[in-house]
Parts: sequence; C-alpha cells; structure tokens
Amino acid sequence: MPIKQSGKRLRVPWRLKLDENDLPVTLPVFMAYCAVAGALRPWNRLGTKSIVTLVTTDDFYYPVFAEAARFFASQIWQSQRFHGNVLQWSDKNFRHEAEALRDESAILFASPSYQIQEDDRLLSDAVVPLAPRTARHAEAALRRAGLPITDESVDLLLGEPWSRLSRAFQDRRGSLQALQRLRSLPKPAPALPADREDERPPPTIGPTLSDMHGFGSLVEWGYDLAKDIADFRAGIIPWRDVENGVLISGPPGVGKTMFASALANSCAIPLIYGSASRWQEAGALDEHLKAMRASFAEAKENAPSILFIDEIDVYGNRIETDRNSAYIRAVITALLQLLDGFERREGVVVLGACNHPDLLDSAIKRAGRLDRHIAVPLPDAASRRSILEFHSGVIMCAADYELFDLATEGQSGADIERLVRDARRVARRQSQNLNSEHILRNLRPLTKLPEAYLRSLAIHEAGHAVVSSEVGHAPISCIKISRHKVDDEIRELGYVEYQPPAPQRRTRQFFENAIATFLGGIAAELEVYGSFTDGAGGADGADLNRATDLATALEGSLGMGHTLVAGRFEQSEATNLRLYLPELRREVHDILETQLARARAIIRAQRPALDAVADRLLEAGELAGEEVREIIGHHRRFTVSLAKPPRRAGM
Ligand code: ADP
Ligand code: ZN
Repeated sequence: MPIKQSGKRLRVPWRLKLDENDLPVTLPVFMAYCAVAGALRPWNRLGTKSIVTLVTTDDFYYPVFAEAARFFASQIWQSQRFHGNVLQWSDKNFRHEAEALRDESAILFASPSYQIQEDDRLLSDAVVPLAPRTARHAEAALRRAGLPITDESVDLLLGEPWSRLSRAFQDRRGSLQALQRLRSLPKPAPALPADREDERPPPTIGPTLSDMHGFGSLVEWGYDLAKDIADFRAGIIPWRDVENGVLISGPPGVGKTMFASALANSCAIPLIYGSASRWQEAGALDEHLKAMRASFAEAKENAPSILFIDEIDVYGNRIETDRNSAYIRAVITALLQLLDGFERREGVVVLGACNHPDLLDSAIKRAGRLDRHIAVPLPDAASRRSILEFHSGVIMCAADYELFDLATEGQSGADIERLVRDARRVARRQSQNLNSEHILRNLRPLTKLPEAYLRSLAIHEAGHAVVSSEVGHAPISCIKISRHKVDDEIRELGYVEYQPPAPQRRTRQFFENAIATFLGGIAAELEVYGSFTDGAGGADGADLNRATDLATALEGSLGMGHTLVAGRFEQSEATNLRLYLPELRREVHDILETQLARARAIIRAQRPALDAVADRLLEAGELAGEEVREIIGHHRRFTVSLAKPPRRAGM
C-alpha cells in the first residue's frame, strides 16, 4: 500500500499547470528550474519561507539559474511581487542580507569557485547541493515546450553549455527553431594548444570511487592505489611498491564488479574483465588455460591496468578428492603461476571477487598473490539512501526515507538499482519525471501498523526496560518500535538492545535477573491487557524461549539448581532434556513462574514509569538508553525489596 504524504501540496515541476499570467520561461530556464526545484524539494510547498544556499557544480551558469530560481520563488509565493532575493554569494552585500532577513526568504547560489563561509551557513537555513542537469530535466523541458522527446534532442540539451542554450532559446523565437539553430551551428571542440593535446583529461565513463557508497576501507585502499599508480607512471616508485592484488568478497549484487570499474576510472587505467566461470566455460583443460592466459596477456598489453577476476571461488580447494581434482589442480597451479612474480605481472593489478572466500584455495590468498582480503557487507541504511540517490537523483523527505529504509533492509545495491529501474518505467508510462512517489510505489509493500497495536508493542518493550532497570540487569542501549511492517516478512517489530552487563559474579541471581528481564515484556502486557501476544513466544530468540533456555541451563548445566550436578548440553538439546526429564521440566517451570510473578510485581509498582516510557516510545519510535533511564528515574516509585528475588525455600 503506497503511503501518501500528508501536508501541503507539493509543487512538482513536471505537474505544473501554468496559466497566462505565469512568467514566460524559456526551455533552458525550465530545465534549470527542474534542478532547482529538486534541490529545494523540502521547501517546495506553497508559502514556505526559507533562506537556502545552493552549492553548484561545474554545470552552472548564473543568468539561467537566477531566472530559474526567480521562477521557483514566484511559484512558491504565487505573487508577482516576490521576484527577488535570488543572489550569488559572491555579490551578496549587507543590503541583500537585510532584504533576505526582512522577507524571510532568499535563494543564494554558491558558484563552484566560491568558498562557503561560516557566516553564510549561519544566515542560511540549509546549504544544499544543486545537482547537474539530467535527462529527466531535459525531457520535462521538451515536454513542456510541446516538442517530441527524442534521444538526440535530450543529448543535445545535456551536451550544450548553458551559455549557448540561453543564447539560442529566446522568448520571441520558437523552441523548435532554437533547437534547429543549435544543431546547425555546432559548438566548436574545446581548443587546447597542440603541445598540450595529451593533457586533455580522458572522458570519465561510469562510476568513480566517490560513487561507491558503503565500501568503507575498500575505497580508501582504492585511493591509495590510484596515488601509487600515478607515482609509478611518473617513475617515482617501482612496481613492487604498488600493492597490486586484493580479494573482494561479498554477497551477489553488492557492487564488486562496479567497484572494479570505479577503481579503473579513478586510476584512469583500463579494466580487463576476466571471469573464472567464463574461462571454465571454454571447456577442456587446454581451452580453459588458454582463456585464462589470454585475459592476463590482455591486461599485460594494456599495463598499467586492472584485471578483474570474477567468481574466483570456482577454484575450490586443490585438496578436494572428487574426480575433477586433477583438472582443478592443474588450473589452480596455472593461475598461481600467473599471479606470481612481479615481472610476470608488472603493471597489472589483480582484483579477485567472490561470494565465498572460505572456499577459495588458500594458496591464492598467500603473500604476494591476493593477500589482502576485504569483505563488502550489504549496504546499511545510509548507504542504501546514497545508492538510491546515485541511481535516481531522488532525495526523499524524512518520512519517506523511513519507509524506504524499512522496505530495503537486507537488500543489495543491485536490488536498489532494480527498484529505481522499475520506478522509472512507471514514471515514463505516466509521462512524469522520476520522483520519490514512484520509488515508494515500487517498494516491497508495507503495512502501517494500527495505533492500538503500536501501543501494545510499546508497552511490551517498555516492560523489558522497566524490569531491566529495577532488577539491575544490563543497561539498555536503545529501544525501538517500527510503525510499519514489510508484508510477507517475519521481523521483530519492536526490540530492546542491552549494553554488555558490567563484569560481575554470575551467580544464580544474575541469571534470575536476566530471566525476569526477558519476561518483562510479557509481564507488562499481562498487567496492562490481561493477556500477551504471540510475538513473545514461538520463534527462536523470542522472549519465552530465551527465558526458558536460560532457566534450563541454570537448572541443568550450570550447577546452580537444586543439585550441584552439572551436565553439559547444547542449546538444541535443551528442548529434549525438558521433554524427557519431568523433574527438570518442573524446575524450569517454577523458575519461570517465580520470575514472571516478580516481573509483574515490578510493573505494578512502577506503572507510571512504564506508561511514560511507552508514551514517549510511541511518539519517537526509538529511544536511546540515556533517555529511557531518565524517564524511569523521573517516574520511579520507591518500593520495598522488589529488586531482590524472593527467597526460595531450601536455598
Ligand atoms: P557484484 O559484482 O557484487 O555481484 P555488481 O557490481 O554486478 O555486483 O552490481 C550490480 C549493479 O548493482 C551495479 O551495476 C550497480 O548498478 C548496482 N550497485 C551495486 N552496488 C552499488 C553501490 N554501492 N552503489 C551504486 N550501485 C550499486
Ligand atoms: Zn520482548
């Protein structure tokens, strides 16, 4: 179910219906307007006032952008009067500042050469990047001008400098005529003096290291390599000082291949794509080895270069004794020879990629070969947002990001790219530019949890927190409930995270406190509602299971039960033990019952604290441990000796 954003109407550029009174806007100005409106999205609502600085890239030309910003302002304020307060930081003066403050609004451009000052930040409500124009912007502008949208005209609008666009498109000239003039008077190639011809920067194609979000140390390694390669080319360091091999592992779709091409782009050297499984497809041993050697030879010819070897883990262990082992052994030996020796692969950086590094023959990972191993995890929420922006240019508002984060948990960069592709298709079908609504509509379906259910979740989690704090179990680091559920996915909708408990003697009491804490959620539900929900038991790791396992361990194996006889058993055996030893089963039951009663007594006594934590959690969705402790401290009622477990007869 797509969730509609509430609030004032969003003025999406490609939905604008303009009437006669609107300012006349030329096609390039409208294109710039799309970029400006995108950057100013949070303020893109009727009547919103703000002073915002837009940080521009090289794709900037003040005359066009200033007009676009004025147009934006006139849309937001819907008054012809408001036309001004669009400035460049470099020519800002005190009068401008006073005007911006008086009108409570201004759009300020920082050109790429302008260094933003602390004062500028102080004046601005926000400093946001203004992205370069995109094909979507060009398409929107063509559509608005009533021109056919062809790849050729989109490319033309993206490739021409703004200054030429603004000269070609004039109010009195039709847009079609302007396009034709641009085509008939092509821009001259940028002139470089003949002796500096080879200094022309190579056109960058595809991603660079700065686009690799969530790649952490691998990106650092990449930048170091880029510097080493530059030094090697300049003759400052020999090849043997260049770290020339790395093994990247990670689940499919996290961007290992993309990283290889980003690395090649950032180092400005060619990438040779090799794939172990493709070499293998060549067939018989001879063919296989030939294909492998050909990739290495190609890399060597193009040195300095990067040889990417995908799926290198198809070369499992040489020691395996299946009937292919002689074949595999021969292949691995050949690969090792190719990897070995600095002369042999001078100028060739080898990147091996795999999903299962542990399957890989350990000789491949030995020093001088692919001795550095970097694992790439699935992207975290922040990285997923960056990947979304990288592929779509879309920046969402906080509420939308919350949904996006939830629905994409556990997904890879490739999954997000697919999501954007699907969303783009929908947008195109509706003749709209891609925006967050399209993305949201293509997310895995989320269901908003009803308020009453959220409250019971909050009560449950607050119960853990209150009991934990009363019995002095490990301090809480955070509690959280989510307001949405990803359909068809079983996931905890609320949870408590504890800090590691302070070092202490792990006495029987320590374990009893832990059990009481695990039962705190159920205890709170029982006190408030008279029953508890299924979330508490059943799945592994659920509260009742954890408490039961702990109680079983306490009685059965830690020597802290009624007998001091200690056995050893695995977690999985606990269930069987409880089934077959009625005595143990009863003991465990007694412990759980005692601790549940204790937890309920605590909840009863500290009901105001429970309610206060639950209320706040409902409001905020997530609370840090500090805040939880503060609320509990504030509402705490002092009672007698509940923190101590009741004494058991015979102990
Ligand atoms: P792998 O080689 O790990 O299986 P790929 O590099 O083939 O993954 O990723 C497939 C696609 O997913 C890439 O072409 C890219 O579009 C997208 N992708 C994966 N990771 C990222 C990332 N970190 N940033 C942006 N896009 C990514
Ligand atoms: Zn719980």
